Amino acid sequence: MKTLQIGAGEVPTLGQGTWNMGEQADRRQDEVRALQLGLDLGLTLIDTAEMYGDGGAEEVVGAAIACRRDDAYIVSKIYPHNASYDGVQAACERSLRRLNIDTIDLYLLHWQGHHPLPETFDGFEALKKAGKIKAWGVSNFDLENMEEALGYGAPATNQVLYNLMKRGIEFDLLPWARQRQLPIMAYSPLETHGPEQAALLGNSGLQAVAGAHGVTPAQIALAWVLHQDGVVAIPKAVDPVHLRANRAAAEIQLSAGDLAALDQAFPPPRRRRALDMR
Ligand code: NAP
Repeated sequence: MKTLQIGAGEVPTLGQGTWNMGEQADRRQDEVRALQLGLDLGLTLIDTAEMYGDGGAEEVVGAAIACRRDDAYIVSKIYPHNASYDGVQAACERSLRRLNIDTIDLYLLHWQGHHPLPETFDGFEALKKAGKIKAWGVSNFDLENMEEALGYGAPATNQVLYNLMKRGIEFDLLPWARQRQLPIMAYSPLETHGPEQAALLGNSGLQAVAGAHGVTPAQIALAWVLHQDGVVAIPKAVDPVHLRANRAAAEIQLSAGDLAALDQAFPPPRRRRALDMR
């Protein structure tokens, strides 16, 4: 699998998401097993957040990596309202406790809130010095937010919504990040669920490319994100069939013809758009 340097770690460009995990006790075992299967398949980057399931998702991750901490690269995210200097220290301690680990590999500001960025970033640097996190970054930052952020520190990544239907970052943020060798972490690479996911996976252009490869539309949608330079994708999957399909998608080679067909079905942006968010 392709790898990318993020902060101190070299990570495969296909990871695992955890949004909607940790919300229901009767689903917990399946979620733990799914993350463990993902690790077995080499999807070592696990993305979570204090927000997901009110900490429940971090507990699921903690259970999944309990006997194999060294197999995983853990990303968690702090709520903006907790991102004062002291709030950062306290939130990180709570996350570490739920994850049952000593160090978070990458700690992100979930989105920009009312606390000044220099204060939040100072908090992150203090955590780094104390060995509580290895690197820090941001999420849901548009180009202006990123330029402002770079004035105060050096985020290791920006995690943003990116998939075939939400290509806005290709106009400005993605080329800007590539120029600076700043990895982008693509969330919701399969459009999450519901009507939006149905519109993506039901697209006839996508289905034609999938048919030609003998794979599913979801696999092509994921292979397309993974094809992009400097991008990590973090699909969430609990169904083991989905996990294996996603791992296999990392091996799909898209031809110039496939890429052109996908551009026709999902045209790239021709002008600046507001950052898509979920
Ligand atoms: P997603 O990964 O685009 O889609 C997840 C959905 O797709 C689940 O219902 C999953 O089903 C299904 N799925 C997975 N693999 C599939 C496959 N091969 N074929 C068909 N269906 C498949 O959505 P997401 O959860 O919104 O995004 C991924 C992760 O990004 C999140 O979990 C979270 O960690 C992160 N995220 C971050 C932000 C942010 O603000 N920073 C926002 C949203 C998400 P099963 O679970 O049943 O397998």
